[in-house]
Amino acid sequence: MQFKDLQLQYKVLKSEIDAEVANVIKEAEFISGKQVKDLEQKLAEYVGTKYCISCGNGTDALSLALMVWNIGTGDAVFVPDFTFFATGEAVTYAGATPVFIDINPNTYNIDTEKLEQRIIEVKKNGKILPKVIIAVDLFGQPADYMEIRRIADKYHMFVLEDGAQGFGGEISGKKACSFGDISTTSFFPAKPLGCYGDGGAIFTDNDEWANLLFSLRIHGKGEDKYDNIRIGMNSRLDTIQAAILLPKLAAFAEYEFNKVNSIANHYSKLLGKTVKIPDILPNYRSSWAQYTIQVTDRSERTKLQEYLRLCDIPTMIYYTKPMHKQKAFEQISDDENNFEVTNRLCDTVLSIPIHPYLSNEEIDYVSEKIVNFFS
Ligand SMILES: *Cc1c(COP(=O)(O)O)cnc(C)c1O
Repeated sequence: MQFKDLQLQYKVLKSEIDAEVANVIKEAEFISGKQVKDLEQKLAEYVGTKYCISCGNGTDALSLALMVWNIGTGDAVFVPDFTFFATGEAVTYAGATPVFIDINPNTYNIDTEKLEQRIIEVKKNGKILPKVIIAVDLFGQPADYMEIRRIADKYHMFVLEDGAQGFGGEISGKKACSFGDISTTSFFPAKPLGCYGDGGAIFTDNDEWANLLFSLRIHGKGEDKYDNIRIGMNSRLDTIQAAILLPKLAAFAEYEFNKVNSIANHYSKLLGKTVKIPDILPNYRSSWAQYTIQVTDRSERTKLQEYLRLCDIPTMIYYTKPMHKQKAFEQISDDENNFEVTNRLCDTVLSIPIHPYLSNEEIDYVSEKIVNFFS
């Protein structure tokens, strides 16, 4: 059994993907070919934003967004403590200070009460200036954007949606990657919509920021890439990756997103009485980047993971370490009491196989083994 079955997905989409890739090689427009524009248009339409600006990966996407707002030394950027490293890394890379915030134990997303308390503290303290909230759509479920927007407006801050795991998710029919002032995603192969290498995209409705982003991703270009009017980056989505993403986006929108949701429901029915299953809020839909359960403690998790491994069921731990405990952030000291939930979850979460091509037999088998372990 595969944790994410990219080979099976390729079997289903092979003829379209092969044709698209062959076409790019034949046309030899490997950088900024017409497929890139075509994909950007389709992504913007799917997400419901005015602009989509593709780029090299999801980490660059975050960096580019922070560059647009001139975030740097002296600025405070609020980041959930439970996320992939890149969310915090981009902040430090920009020269700003990440302020890590505990999460909600049911949704895995940023705890908005603790967020607001912390913004007030940082403001009062006066050393750094609250500028941006980076909300992450962890494991596929959008963060609480109603509350986040209220807080951002109140303290005059920007919202950056890190939708690297959230592409496809919804709140009341509105799509993920449309909730931030700027939103980003990643096309890393294992993400809900993945390509065959690195890739990413940025979404916004703002004309001025979109124009800046189109420039920043190609060496701060002006009229063309040999007219350089600002310092930017070299961060483009390869034409081959765009060509691969075109049929993959179509499959995602047509059936993969619904399929992975029915798989998650199936899991939840079979596992709900045995372990803590993911909590999807009313009117929310997840893109199920991960299906993550919670057990009692670290030793129980180690035993369960080993038992499942012997049953040929791969599992992963997202994440074993909170952001504030990463060595790279050791200069940012903070009170351990601020991270009670993240500290606990790093010992108790376990992600089990989920992808749109998981069969009913596999779902039944995984669930049966987990229930067996506990009985
Ligand atoms: C994967 C991921 C990123 C980084 O994306 P890359 O394309 O690998 O650079 C950023 N944030 C989160 C939450 C992620 O899961």
